[in-house]
Amino acid sequence: MSEKVILVVLDGLSYSVAHHCMGYLNGLIKADSATLYQLECELPSMSRPLYECILTGVPPVKSGIVNNQIIRLSHFDSIFSLARLAGKTTAAAAYYWVSELYNRAPFVATRDRLTHDESLAIQHGCFYQADHYPDDHLFVDAEYLRTQFNPDFLLIHPMNIDDTGHKFGFDSPQYRNAARHADIILSNYIPTWIEQGYQILITSDHGMNNDRSHGGTLPEECLVPLFVVGSQFSHQPCDIEQTAICGTICRLLGANSLDKPVCDALLRGGL
Ligand SMILES: [Zn+2]
Repeated sequence: MSEKVILVVLDGLSYSVAHHCMGYLNGLIKADSATLYQLECELPSMSRPLYECILTGVPPVKSGIVNNQIIRLSHFDSIFSLARLAGKTTAAAAYYWVSELYNRAPFVATRDRLTHDESLAIQHGCFYQADHYPDDHLFVDAEYLRTQFNPDFLLIHPMNIDDTGHKFGFDSPQYRNAARHADIILSNYIPTWIEQGYQILITSDHGMNNDRSHGGTLPEECLVPLFVVGSQFSHQPCDIEQTAICGTICRLLGANSLDKPVCDALLRGGL
């Protein structure tokens, strides 16, 4: 395959809230245009360790990125580096920790916030540092990268759902409304992405608990959604591990995923 892929990581979104609050995405499912899977995130259920897990297929205890304070480049091939090896163009509108894992660490805002460097793993980037950086601004950043640089792989990583969960907790109107807001933003972009033939995955790193945090094994902090939209997915029931997202996206891109796990059943013709 040689598809263009958009991966949206809605930071801190629990499966149940995605399932109940995201009416546009669920409308796509009703119209047979999307499928929702439930994933159990790797542990600890924390952000930086799971960015690394999603983007390299390596769980935290093996990657060494075991907490949010480990500030260094990843030691593993990522979707970005494997796409680059295959001659693909990469881009990300994401929290600055993603830049630290795959481009340069530590993050220097004046140098790295806006990145355009063909030699880096993430060639085109808009990286933000404030957890309350508005999701709608971040999606505009991403759309700028998509339309100006035509990336084969684009990561979009907004933070407001997680930020709201830390302020108000899992079982709060504010947390659920942050998810609803992200769903509305997505509804402004996904029709164009579908029309232009992108394969789209929308997932989360981890969920949220009622103590306004995450990190452990409670269902609300470990169960996360994976919505898939696009003609190259099987749209059939299957079990998928968070560690298989990386290899599966490489397969879609037509990039050699080396020894990364792939979820064949998620892909058309993979059953
Ligand atoms: Zn968080």
